[in-house]
Amino acid sequence: MYLVANINIDICAATSCKLCTQFCPEANTINYNTELGKDEGYKYGSAYVAVDRCKGCAQCVWVCDNMAKHHAITMVMIDQLPKAAMTDYITYGEKSTTAQLVNPTAGSE
Ligand code: SF4
Ligand code: SF4
Repeated sequence: MYLVANINIDICAATSCKLCTQFCPEANTINYNTELGKDEGYKYGSAYVAVDRCKGCAQCVWVCDNMAKHHAITMVMIDQLPKAAMTDYITYGEKSTTAQLVNPTAGSE
């Protein structure tokens, strides 16, 4: 097991700053989905991490804490994630990349 970045949608969706998406060194790992959090009343969506691409460097945590000052990202053991986005289900749009949110423990029984 290893640590990956996990974004708190309730914090991120309230800001929609998108700063972390510009600093992750891994391509298509932190993405932004304008639909995330809409069911909870947030207007602009949230960043999320495609965990199977995340290398655990924690650069995004530093950016969110110290540059954005939103403290929305923590490093979490991959098997402790409440839900996760995997690039298995990624779709490449004209202007965005979207990975489907799935529960990594689903289907393991
Ligand atoms: S820097 Fe933090 S608040 Fe900004 S988009 Fe990334 S996770 Fe969300
Ligand atoms: S921990 Fe590193 S690789 Fe993973 S999402 Fe954050 S910046 Fe990207």
